[in-house]
Amino acid sequence: MFSNSASATLRGIDGQRVQVEVHVVTGVLPSFSVVGLPDASCREARDRVRAALSSNGFAWPKAARVTVNLAPSQVRKEGSGLDLAIALGVIAASTLDESRARKEIEDGVERQPEHQRLPPELLLDHAFIAELGLDGSLRPVPGVLSRVAAVSDLAVVVAPAAAHEARLAGAAIVRSAGTLRQVVDCLKAVEPWPDPPRGSRSADHRPPVPDLADVAGHPFARQALEIAAAGGHNLLLCGPPGAGKSMLARRLPGILPDLDDGAALLTSRIHSVAGLGVPANDLLRVPPFRAPHHSASMTALIGGGSGRLRPGEISCAHGGVLFLDELGEFAPSALDAMRQPLEEGSVQISRAHASVRFPARFCLVAAMNPCPCGLLGSVEPCRCTDQARRRYMRRLSGPLLDRIDLRVHMQRPRADQLMSTERGESSGAVRDRVLAARERARRRGVPCNARIVPGRLDDLAPVSDTGRTMLERALADGRLSARGLARVRMVARTIADLAGEDTISEQSIAGALALRARPVLFDTLGVTHV
Ligand SMILES: [Zn+2]
Repeated sequence: MFSNSASATLRGIDGQRVQVEVHVVTGVLPSFSVVGLPDASCREARDRVRAALSSNGFAWPKAARVTVNLAPSQVRKEGSGLDLAIALGVIAASTLDESRARKEIEDGVERQPEHQRLPPELLLDHAFIAELGLDGSLRPVPGVLSRVAAVSDLAVVVAPAAAHEARLAGAAIVRSAGTLRQVVDCLKAVEPWPDPPRGSRSADHRPPVPDLADVAGHPFARQALEIAAAGGHNLLLCGPPGAGKSMLARRLPGILPDLDDGAALLTSRIHSVAGLGVPANDLLRVPPFRAPHHSASMTALIGGGSGRLRPGEISCAHGGVLFLDELGEFAPSALDAMRQPLEEGSVQISRAHASVRFPARFCLVAAMNPCPCGLLGSVEPCRCTDQARRRYMRRLSGPLLDRIDLRVHMQRPRADQLMSTERGESSGAVRDRVLAARERARRRGVPCNARIVPGRLDDLAPVSDTGRTMLERALADGRLSARGLARVRMVARTIADLAGEDTISEQSIAGALALRARPVLFDTLGVTHV
């Protein structure tokens, strides 16, 4: 006796259709095996399925060899999302067809009770994506958005908590039920499918983003934040503890444009696969803000893992902001691993069993103390030894700093600034300028100025004669490297866009050069290469 139903597994952030075939032979030594490259958690389905069947009043086939084959067999299957399909497959493959049932009755065997039966053909029009609890309840699994997209030609059955995500994935028919028993009864039309729960339409799902109006002072750093948002440039905020570095960084998503449809779908899929969930009524529209702690593991930051390959924080920040507070405390190897994604907008994760590419295009905002004691460059004298400063500097990977176009030194706000009742400009007003600048970039055919390819700079970012002289001077006296030159021109392009100018003036170049200041620490140690 045989049954076949559809489900889906994950490969990176993509869903992959899986056919769950179940074969039951009775009158032999009992066994239950799952074949077709299941991973450890997928193999554990055996125990969950057995318990769920028993809790929901289904008898396990007596003296039966149950074989579950997950096709295509060369694709690795992960996680518990196939549980429901396997359980229904076992019930369907154990259901005797009418002629066989009649013969067994003639042979004096008790008729299979009706509530145990599920004709295998009832499974064919559906795909089943849910984990089973030991009590037979349906539970949501990560990556429903991607999995459902792989089987959207079928009616999709998911856990009630995942119904909104399945609808966002574009499935024509989404069904959900609370338990395995209820799914079987609905498939047999003994009872109607319950209405999938809907999130309340009126609820505002946009997470609150703090407003720039709360930030007192810091005109230079505020300007850098605006330029970072308008051009997609990476930003380093350097300053003593209490200078307001993270307060400022957290306000960046509030001045970024909302994600467009493509980016919203991609970012939502990443968040769903990472188990972060998606909003109740819509895809993620607000640019994400991710702030991993400096003690986070390499896997948590970059992605990977020993079982299923999971997206890391850099991918969860896709389309938004990755904030690295205390940059100097991150493991140098982790910072080193960020260079490829910063360059390419994605990260390749390779393991023995699989290799996947996760999107990772984010705006990097890093914050650091200027030196281990934090006082370098402020009014109080720094208490660090030269050796301590050198050790601190070595932790910052030079090539990473090289990819940060905007570097700002912040001071603690003065007492009169803290006491002032005057509020700063609001995020809304700044965001309007950012949107206008981005629109200018889009009209030139680039999503943002940080992504202009160097070969097109002369075409897209023409510099005025006086600006050119200024750049030549900076190159000649060693303040600017050849690599830095292209980056400065991109930042100057953004400054000119914010001012509504087509050609890059001397002021825009001067602004971009001033924003590429070396951290004070590097100056005190005589390092000139960044
Ligand atoms: Zn110090």
